[in-house]
Amino acid sequence: VAMLAGFAACGVGGASRGSGDSNAATIKKGDVVGISMPTKADQRWNVDGANLKKDLQNAGYKVVLSYANNSPSQQSTDINNLISAGAKAIIVAAVDGTAVGPAVAQAKAAGDTVIAYDRLIMNTDAVNYYVTFNLEMTGTLEANYIIDKLNLKNGGCKDTPCNIEMFAGSDDDNNAPYFFKGAWDLLQPYFKSGQLKDPSNHGGGITASFKNSDWKKISVHAWDQNTAQSQMDAIMTQAYAHGEKLSAVLSPYDAISQGIINSIKNHRPDMVPGTSTWPIITGQDGMDIAIHNIYWGMQGQTVFKNVALLAKQTTKIITTLAAGKKPGNFSGKMDNGKIKVPTYYEKSQQLTKANLHTEVEVGFITESQYQKDI
Ligand code: BGC
Repeated sequence: VAMLAGFAACGVGGASRGSGDSNAATIKKGDVVGISMPTKADQRWNVDGANLKKDLQNAGYKVVLSYANNSPSQQSTDINNLISAGAKAIIVAAVDGTAVGPAVAQAKAAGDTVIAYDRLIMNTDAVNYYVTFNLEMTGTLEANYIIDKLNLKNGGCKDTPCNIEMFAGSDDDNNAPYFFKGAWDLLQPYFKSGQLKDPSNHGGGITASFKNSDWKKISVHAWDQNTAQSQMDAIMTQAYAHGEKLSAVLSPYDAISQGIINSIKNHRPDMVPGTSTWPIITGQDGMDIAIHNIYWGMQGQTVFKNVALLAKQTTKIITTLAAGKKPGNFSGKMDNGKIKVPTYYEKSQQLTKANLHTEVEVGFITESQYQKDI
């Protein structure tokens, strides 16, 4: 995948070709800032939208917030409406990172600053800044959890190979291949050593020769829970219908994990959460449902992204521009196929049953909520 080659944490400043921060913005305090979020159906984007709105309003801006119902064409309409509403800066968490290009080009033509939020906007010079979390780290944390739980470094699964199933994120999201790469780089050696194997045909059958660039073969379009559940149903019917052991499932996102959990429960009542019969299942986002699932032994870990940090960093870009200065201290630049976009990476963190309290502390969910048996 060409996109992967572009992932370089190179230094700040002096890019030889087009750089996102080149056109100085005209935004000033009191102006309208537009926010285009992908969907209300995922918990995190509701939190992201609310955080951004609160931080920007506190900093003295007017905010127009829209949600695109996971539709790329709706998102283009939303962005056009934000331009018409007089937004001087537009913050976009893309539904489809490539399809949104023409809409942000119009925003650029209108003189707006465009900030790609969490997901990079691809193949356009109309994106000024990118704020996200360290992308590969999601997969790294997930894979290391599996490696640790299966004791793979110390010869676990050597005598009898352990069965694992793997899922990747949405095919239109530039984040998804990085998440997968972070995980596959660590898991592939155990396919090579014969400790891990995938007995199903999912993605055409995953063997040691599967490549990072093959990730779309196992992607779940739109990160959709029901799609993940049907894919897992096919896997269960095909490879686990006769009592076969399933040791682990690499899942890139909590709602996908939920689809996988539902499928396993339907197909294999003999697999019991919280016991060794139940597979190790990963996730991402720290959704309330995942915290509950971790507490009840249905999911092993989740990659928690404290999205409040992302909203603060985004707001800082805008207040810096409004003060007539250039944002600085980027963590790196990310190539979107057209330009190198100045990027800030925040750090994510693993949550397991041992540290679920982290979420309580940052105000996401209470103990009594996730300890309720549903
Ligand atoms: C985000 C993840 C999220 C996923 C599904 C990705 O682009 O980075 O945090 O789990 O989308 O919404």
